[in-house]
Amino acid sequence: MTDIKVLYEHYLENRIICTDTRTITDGCLFFALKGENFDANTFAENALVNGAAYVIIDNQDYKINNRCLLVPDVLTALQDLAKFHRMQLTIPVIGLTGSNGKTTTKELIKAVLSEKYRTFATKGNLNNHIGVPLSLLSLTDDIEIAVIEMGANHQKEIELLCSIARPTHGLITNVGLAHLDGFGGFEGVKKGKAELFDYLKQHEGYTFINSDNPHLIEMSTTAGLDKVIYYGTSGHAAVSGKLLDTDPLISFSWTDQKETYQASANLTGSYNFENILAAICIGVFFGVPAEQVNSGLSGYHPNNNRSQITNTGSNTVICDFYNANPSSMSAALLNIDGLNAASKVVIIGDMFELGPESAVQHRNIADQASKLEDCSLIFIGSNFYALKEQYRGHFFSTPREAADFLRLNPVKNSLILLKGSRGMALEQLLPLI
Ligand code: ATP
Ligand code: MG
Repeated sequence: MTDIKVLYEHYLENRIICTDTRTITDGCLFFALKGENFDANTFAENALVNGAAYVIIDNQDYKINNRCLLVPDVLTALQDLAKFHRMQLTIPVIGLTGSNGKTTTKELIKAVLSEKYRTFATKGNLNNHIGVPLSLLSLTDDIEIAVIEMGANHQKEIELLCSIARPTHGLITNVGLAHLDGFGGFEGVKKGKAELFDYLKQHEGYTFINSDNPHLIEMSTTAGLDKVIYYGTSGHAAVSGKLLDTDPLISFSWTDQKETYQASANLTGSYNFENILAAICIGVFFGVPAEQVNSGLSGYHPNNNRSQITNTGSNTVICDFYNANPSSMSAALLNIDGLNAASKVVIIGDMFELGPESAVQHRNIADQASKLEDCSLIFIGSNFYALKEQYRGHFFSTPREAADFLRLNPVKNSLILLKGSRGMALEQLLPLI
């Protein structure tokens, strides 16, 4: 069996990790992970032929030469290697989780911290038990601060990710109605996310908390946190802010208890204000001057279909179709309700992973949407379709049927919200609106 120190020496040779034979890079370490429908041990030889320096396998039958490194379990080896690498680094690592807004907040924090430090942040949404190790293993020696997004849909997952990433600082963006199935309801979400607070308490890390959020305050008290820095809209917070405008992009003022500054961000939705304040608070904590905090924020342009405004030529579209759950859906409806437009259309798709609460949560959203004034409604997916008789609007079981409808009834000169769970793939409707 291969020792972790030997594995680490091989990693240091090129510092390239691959887990997919379709994207093998010369000189990489190829980790032969298992998925539901594959066992990458079977691709080990192929990975070597395609340029991998070493392959890490956990099935002896595939050990064809000395470049096949046998370990008891490939996933554990990847996580242990990431942990070992992390332990060589003395930089601050900001661990970030929450039900909504992790990726957006992570990008905003990166934009702000990059004004002063060489900052690494998780690429895209690589936030799970494989993504977090891969993120850590891409940390190079020149990096001064790392921001690591941690996602979870079950208990003990954040605990595991913390044991690998060893955050020195942490933030839970919020707790909401997401992954209710895996977490076991809302109380389960709070418990699962609070594993980050528990880790920070045990390891004397700093925690940034939204003082406007009673759930987070309660969770921080339960965890017994003492090294806490608050942000929010109350004047007592270390960084407090006031929303000035949201139509369609956010502008606001903020203060660090000494001076007040005006700023803006290229994001729509008042729900993003808490994400912005978190990034400002972290920037201020790490000594980024206020002017640079503001230029970092205003320089961030989302291009990830989260809270992004796009002009298609026919309409202005709020592209928020990267994902959806009841909390973020409700926030997005509230947002479009507050925006000025001669004509508004809401196109929303089913929300997944809600378990036994699915029917009631879809009904709540349909109810909220049906009360929006001067707004046409298009519901897509079997969960919304089941409510067809109860609420106003057009109902379709699939995006394809909705597409046929939009071809026959084109929408023009409107403000459109396009949002649904990832599995609904509502981006396919964008060329039609
Ligand atoms: P994932 O679980 O997919 O990683 P995430 O937590 O990283 O999601 P984002 O990708 O930043 O979250 O945002 C997803 C969607 O959540 C956004 O498009 C927006 O609709 C909504 N959202 C973002 N921030 C908030 C917030 N603070 N409160 C409520 N909803 C939010
Ligand atoms: Mg994310």
